Amino acid sequence: MVPFVDLKAQYRSIKDEVNAAILGVIERCEFTLGSEVAAFEKEFAAYCQVEHGIGVNTGTSALHLALLAAGVGPGDEVITVPFTFVATVSAIDYTGAKPVFVDIDPKTFTMDVNAIEAAITDKTKAIIPVHLYGQTADMDPILEIARKRGLVVIEDACQAHGAEYKGRRAGSMGHMGCFSFYPGKNLGAYGEGGMVVTNSPDFTRTIRMLRDWGAEKKYQHVLKGYNFRLEGIQGAVLRVKLKYLEAWTEARRAAAARYDQWFADSNVPTPYVRPDARHVYHLYAIRTQHRQAWQDTLLAQGIQTGIHYPTPVHLLPAFADLGYEAGQFPHAEAAAREVLSLPMFPELTAAQGEQVAQAVLALASSADAPADAPAATVA
Ligand SMILES: *Cc1c(COP(=O)(O)O)cnc(C)c1O
Repeated sequence: MVPFVDLKAQYRSIKDEVNAAILGVIERCEFTLGSEVAAFEKEFAAYCQVEHGIGVNTGTSALHLALLAAGVGPGDEVITVPFTFVATVSAIDYTGAKPVFVDIDPKTFTMDVNAIEAAITDKTKAIIPVHLYGQTADMDPILEIARKRGLVVIEDACQAHGAEYKGRRAGSMGHMGCFSFYPGKNLGAYGEGGMVVTNSPDFTRTIRMLRDWGAEKKYQHVLKGYNFRLEGIQGAVLRVKLKYLEAWTEARRAAAARYDQWFADSNVPTPYVRPDARHVYHLYAIRTQHRQAWQDTLLAQGIQTGIHYPTPVHLLPAFADLGYEAGQFPHAEAAAREVLSLPMFPELTAAQGEQVAQAVLALASSADAPADAPAATVA
């Protein structure tokens, strides 16, 4: 059996430390915010090479509050991609602004920077590039367009803890960077969690208020805010886990390199990595025209896979009101049909990786066989 992720294996490796950290919070009764959260905010911001971190309850809330801090609201437009987890788009929707999509670059699955200019109107306020699967979007052109047009850039770095672009860390390049600590993410809480990181003291101050009922001090509510606080137990768990994040990331990268090697001389399309990128492999996605058959066959052999994501957001029923139609974002739509995420987690052994790779290679070579090929023209 090769699981898609194995959170239990990771827990076993840090059990004593994590249990003690959780007990400490309980004994101090620092259940919400508190000293562990404050320390984690500093440590994670430093990890991201950014001045400030504001802990919140989810990655979705991080995006939502970053948008509000940027002044985004009803009547505004925010540009993002349709090939992402739905939360990116929901966060825009919560503010009352309109999500406006641009297609992805089919090689990297991230925002097509050449499509941005055409999507900008006089209502555009912000751009949210999504660092999908653990590789950042092509940030320099995005930052340049935003600078020229006076737009705010909010990085959706929920899948990209520790990813780098030209030596800069994910979350440090835009005006704000948003992270999720959902359990399955590269840095996962034992529950829900999220953070906004930024170098701006103004955004920091606003987001600190918004996450805690808009209060400047207790009962001094200067903004209409939310209860989006990060829990003390999550802060404590995340502080323990942050110490291991670099080692876990290198283990993911090694597991990805092993897959790459296995697939090197085959027709299996492996993830494209930009030469200037540090990919952190939240997911390792290949592409196939035979996805359902491959997924079923792999599962029958005890290999779990995932699909991230089967429907691009512009075609989800929940966002039908945006008025988009099939065919408008062909690269996102093709990716949604073809991507298949293989097992990827730091504890994935070389033997497990080899088992997965051999099973995929067998599928790929039978997909090549004449029976599966398009019918040749008959003379
Ligand atoms: C996980 C994720 C989110 C949302 O994070 P939550 O903590 O689950 O709210 C947003 N964007 C992307 C790209 C994600 O992968």
